[in-house]
Amino acid sequence: MRTPAQKLARIGAFAAAVLILLLLAGTVSLTLSYLRAEAWVEHTTEVIAQIRSTRGLLPGTPALSGASLRVKISGILRQFNVVGDLTRDNPQQVRNAADFRAIFLVSGPANSGFRAKIEPQDTAAADAILDDMEHEEEHLLIRRIGVQSMATRYGAVVGFALCAVLLILGAGAGLALRRELEKRARADQALIAERDGLAEHTRELAMVSAGSRMMQAARDEAQVNEVVGQVLRDLAPASRGYFGAVSPSNDLVEICVSWGYAAAPPPFVPADCLALQLGRTIHRSASLVRVDCRHALPESGDYVCIPVQGSAGPIGVLHVATQETFDRKRCDVIEMFAAHVGLELANLRMRDALRSQTVRDPLTGLFNRRYFDETLSRELLAAARHASTLAVLIIDVDHFKRLNDSQGHAAGDDALRTFARVLRSTFRESDVLCRYGGEEFAVILPDVDLEHAFDRAETLRRQVTETEMCSGNAALGNITISIGAAASAEFSDPQAIVRAADAALYQAKRMGRNATWVCSNNNLTLPSIRVGAAAG
Ligand SMILES: [Zn+2]
Repeated sequence: MRTPAQKLARIGAFAAAVLILLLLAGTVSLTLSYLRAEAWVEHTTEVIAQIRSTRGLLPGTPALSGASLRVKISGILRQFNVVGDLTRDNPQQVRNAADFRAIFLVSGPANSGFRAKIEPQDTAAADAILDDMEHEEEHLLIRRIGVQSMATRYGAVVGFALCAVLLILGAGAGLALRRELEKRARADQALIAERDGLAEHTRELAMVSAGSRMMQAARDEAQVNEVVGQVLRDLAPASRGYFGAVSPSNDLVEICVSWGYAAAPPPFVPADCLALQLGRTIHRSASLVRVDCRHALPESGDYVCIPVQGSAGPIGVLHVATQETFDRKRCDVIEMFAAHVGLELANLRMRDALRSQTVRDPLTGLFNRRYFDETLSRELLAAARHASTLAVLIIDVDHFKRLNDSQGHAAGDDALRTFARVLRSTFRESDVLCRYGGEEFAVILPDVDLEHAFDRAETLRRQVTETEMCSGNAALGNITISIGAAASAEFSDPQAIVRAADAALYQAKRMGRNATWVCSNNNLTLPSIRVGAAAG
């Protein structure tokens, strides 16, 4: 389909071609006219010269006769024949020529018989005829010169017009060509820019995808944060920013990773971030209403604040600031990356929650019995390998059923939670603290012998008796615990060591509770029962 401008250009080109052809035809025709006129002018000039030569031959005033007359007439007629030949195309001159010849010839064809005598009046008549002829030729000459000058004049005008048209067309074509070339150059530049932009966008998308894969492989949130910092540094090289995570209590945004700052920015409250408040991206330079996030530094140029969405609402915010202006495409890419971050963090947290659900006791947060069994086997093997010893404590809350019956299950649960807290504060990070079931607890103490295990158990027991138990505002009084201990030096088998510690626990209960007993065949100064009793 041609555009109207293209149609107009075609019509213009056609008209210009017709005009040039007409002007060319005019020029050719006028040039031919000029040449023809010039030939005629030469011809007429020649005729006049010949007439004048003929006149020069006419005899003088005295009459001629005889032989000299014949010679004279023959010369005149020979010369006049040249004039006659030259003017044969002009009927009037032909008539004049006949009259001229009649003066010198008697009758019949030319030169057949000359007049015997030429009177002076004959000469005058001949002269008069030559005059007529010359006048006629002079008229013709004037007319032909007129034609020649007209052809010259019009030829000049048409030639000038042709030159002007060619010049205008040439200039127009040159301008159009320049414009077309400029248009093409601009189109080429736009194409190159678009291609570069596309390559850059593809690179950014590849970066987001690679970042997402790295986050999927991350073991914990620290690794995810590291990837976030790295990818954003690459995505927006001249930028600075941070990723802040909303705390579980939802009252603080803590900076997990930052880049481009001399010192990590301080934490802030979620209410300071519009993106978190509105649940959508804030792009400063693209905002119609300029209200800044309060956590953004005042000297920030342009910035984007993107809420990182978890499975149940925002879990963090990505803040990226730059001195230039972010273009829309780059913002989209960062937004896409933020979506990946949210997804991966939510996945990681769900994975952690599931894992802890399978190994943790929901009431106390301690490890469960399954985890205890698995860990004990592993720790016993490790102890054997390193030629060290480990101890196991089995702990029972005394008269727990009575507490439950009198104060209710909620109070019993609160007491167990308080006891778990004391347990955690008494033992080391490396000790494995478990709820074994009901009010029974178990502790694995790596690299500890029986005597030290006994001391630790006693410390715990004293701590518990000194701790005031309460449920809500109601005081529950104090509770006591009974503890049985055994060490891997004598019981290297998981079942055996648990059975031995259990036996020691029952001995403690039998002996009046609120006590620690050990199970050992060695002669110890500690309260102990022997292995045989444990086996029985
Ligand atoms: Zn913000």
